[in-house]
Amino acid sequence: MEKTKRSLETRMIHGTFDRQKHYGSLTPPIYQTSTFSFETAEQGEARFAGNESGYMYSRLGNPTVDALEKKIADLEGGEEGIAFSSGMAAVSAVLYALVKSGDHILVSEGVYGCTFGLLKMMKEKFNVDYDLINMDSEETIESMIKDNTKALYIETPINPTMKLVDIDMVVNVAKKRNLPVVVDNTFCSPYLQQPLALGADIVLHSATKYIGGHGDVVAGLVVGKSEFIQEVRMTTQKDIGGILSPFDAWLLIRGLKTLAVRMDRHCENANKLFDQLKRHPKIKSIVYPGDPEFVQHELAKKQMKHYGGLISFEIDGSKETAQKVMNELSMIQVAVSLGDAETLIQHPATMTHAVVPDEERERMGVTDQLLRLSVGLESVDDIWDDLANGLNKI
Ligand SMILES: *Cc1c(COP(=O)(O)O)cnc(C)c1O
Repeated sequence: MEKTKRSLETRMIHGTFDRQKHYGSLTPPIYQTSTFSFETAEQGEARFAGNESGYMYSRLGNPTVDALEKKIADLEGGEEGIAFSSGMAAVSAVLYALVKSGDHILVSEGVYGCTFGLLKMMKEKFNVDYDLINMDSEETIESMIKDNTKALYIETPINPTMKLVDIDMVVNVAKKRNLPVVVDNTFCSPYLQQPLALGADIVLHSATKYIGGHGDVVAGLVVGKSEFIQEVRMTTQKDIGGILSPFDAWLLIRGLKTLAVRMDRHCENANKLFDQLKRHPKIKSIVYPGDPEFVQHELAKKQMKHYGGLISFEIDGSKETAQKVMNELSMIQVAVSLGDAETLIQHPATMTHAVVPDEERERMGVTDQLLRLSVGLESVDDIWDDLANGLNKI
């Protein structure tokens, strides 16, 4: 019997997996197989012709991966999902599906470094043009849309300056021009932000981060209309080949079960750390969407359920001072990536943003003194003790 739609938290745990089709197995089995045998030659023919549904070869579909794809589609409120071997495999498959040589993509400023690298490569090798703009008003966006623009691509919030893009506003402009809006929802996860409900067409994730949540898998996910996802599945994924392994899909299904409780704790810990950092004499500035003084605080309140688990802050000092703080930490791990149980700290100027030219980097607010913290799930008192100890040594 069709149940009324349960809450997001419940669907993260139960959701779409049909246990009765798998011997009642509570969790989806790991179908660790490369290929699937057909009962007859004719069955093989029918499957390849698309006249009979069923699995053929794991690059074209696998039941464990399928279980994950159905789950993420349900959680993002989209028609269909598709899984990839990394967030970048997801980003590239989506962009390759949307454009061809001679087309143009309008992109929000400050997107993930490798997404920027991909755009540059697509321009140099395949003549796909792009513009990176500050999407701060409908007028700005409208003025930058060209006749050959085929998609609007946004990321919100961005790393490490936490700048937000108003999804609703971008969708408004895009609808007038009949252009698809792609949202990289990595920093929020479907628990904190639901771009499709706001009218976006395609949402994607580096599932390596909050969705996996345990720092043990690299993966990507995309959700959108069936027609688009089918196209990706049968073209850019099938022929470029960045598929997810059944075991990694299983890890993500496992990660998703605790997404809501983890996100609540990430957000709560971040909020408490923000309060402490704000009062610390060695901190020059903080960027955190939950700061009532943050320039886009109202927008964060409007489109996010909570403010996320990331905080960036400037140390009063130099690059060396910032590095000294990191070297004094004993529990917090010095590492890029985010969304893990462990609290991680990184120095964007010399790590994630090292390739950005100095002037451009400073203009973006990624100074030598800036540190970015991915707040973990440890006791917030222990995180603060460690941080305060580092800060008090400078
Ligand atoms: C990490 C990240 C990516 C790339 O994902 P990978 O899984 O590392 O390939 C894309 N977008 C954002 C916002 C990210 O943080």
